[in-house]
Amino acid sequence: MGPPGSGKGTRAKIIGKMYDIPVITTGDMLREAFARGTEHGKVADAYMRKGELVPDEIVIAIVEERLRQPDIESGFILDGFPRSVRQAVALDRILKGQSKTIDTVLNVVAKPETIINRLSLRRSCPRCGAVYHLKDMPPKEDGVCDECGGPLIQREDDKEEIIRHRFDVYERRTFPILELYESSGKIKEISGDLEIDEIPKALEEILGKPDP
Ligand code: ADP
Ligand code: ZN
Repeated sequence: MGPPGSGKGTRAKIIGKMYDIPVITTGDMLREAFARGTEHGKVADAYMRKGELVPDEIVIAIVEERLRQPDIESGFILDGFPRSVRQAVALDRILKGQSKTIDTVLNVVAKPETIINRLSLRRSCPRCGAVYHLKDMPPKEDGVCDECGGPLIQREDDKEEIIRHRFDVYERRTFPILELYESSGKIKEISGDLEIDEIPKALEEILGKPDP
């Protein structure tokens, strides 16, 4: 959990590598669905451009299908899901059906300055989902993705007006989910202001050492 630009995605990717588990990023999956030209993808794109949440039915269907793949059996991390109370309820239902439970709800807390700086300097690779920061994590070559060689872009929804709207949406629709999880005692906080190389240690303190 965490507002746009809090560093949620960066932490999720690091967790995936450290603990060797799949990272399920709904934002990336929706962008991929659009790139492939699927019906869901086309509908999703119209919402994403405006900074609105994609309708619950679509996102839930995509996550439900993903959670049927066998690679999640020894654990997984969800990045960007659930984002509404209905999604949280659906996740509960899906996990119950598979006799799985959530271990930890990681809440990323960042200073507003950090967030604004991140989103305005963020560049993304539409081809492979890699994310860069022009100052803190620039690509080796200007405008080119280190991972796949594709061209880097500023996401349409990383422009100022849309960013402001995404914050409102976060506070209205996503923030209330934390209340749902509060009584479970599973919420752990991680700072969104850490330097990249400080993140693994912070994660180890919260989630425990990965198996060797
Ligand atoms: P950020 O976390 O920086 O906002 P994401 O890539 O996670 O970036 O999300 C971008 C957009 O994708 C959201 O503004 C929303 O339109 C859509 N999206 C991603 N995940 C969900 C979700 N679980 N439910 C609804 N919409 C979603
Ligand atoms: Zn790439």
